[in-house]
Amino acid sequence: MRLVMLGPPGAGKGTQAKRLAERRRIPHISTGDILRAAAAAGTKLGKEARRYMHDGGLVPDAVMIGLVQERLRQPDAHGGFILDGFPRTVAQAEALDGFLAANGMPLDAVVQIAVPRDELVGRLAGRRTCGTCGTMYQVAVSQGPNGRCDACGGPLLQRDDDREETVARRMSVYERETAPLVGHYRDKGLLREVKGTGSRDEVFQRITGELR
Ligand code: AMP
Repeated sequence: MRLVMLGPPGAGKGTQAKRLAERRRIPHISTGDILRAAAAAGTKLGKEARRYMHDGGLVPDAVMIGLVQERLRQPDAHGGFILDGFPRTVAQAEALDGFLAANGMPLDAVVQIAVPRDELVGRLAGRRTCGTCGTMYQVAVSQGPNGRCDACGGPLLQRDDDREETVARRMSVYERETAPLVGHYRDKGLLREVKGTGSRDEVFQRITGELR
């Protein structure tokens, strides 16, 4: 299965994509995770990406398109993949369409997770990620004791770009650059819209129901 997860920051794309990828045994390709890992490792890509990510802006299309094409050429993506955080602009979507068509690997579906804006802002403010294993938490509901990860005991950290001032910018970048992709994929007959409210399990059931 070849899938794109679409939705605003905080909609739960990463959580749902990770779970679906485990179930289907295909790679979860999160461009945000790739960029954060590059930034932490201090590579050339990471240093460039950090400048944009810190302010909630987008890394240039040419950089992202090259990075994703390289990732999709890896053998583990030949049996399917879930893209999370890419494409994020019409130019990226068109480049992806062209690349997948040229390689005979068309998308099966694009899942759009919809959450009301008010709820997104609250979710991002309360979002914490385990610095060791990457498990995500909402601090108000599921934070482990002493801010430690329930799964591995690692420290729970707030993402640099989940700070309030950056969240507003990310939301407006989403509306301007990424929301038009909903129409792009609807026109292609690929869009599956799923309500992203309720528990993680409920959202996961809705997604698997749509993909059945
Ligand atoms: P995410 O984890 O998907 O929210 O991504 C975190 C940040 O990484 C974004 O706010 C962007 O700065 C950058 N980023 C991730 N994916 C892309 C993309 N496809 N195009 C441009 N920038 C991206």
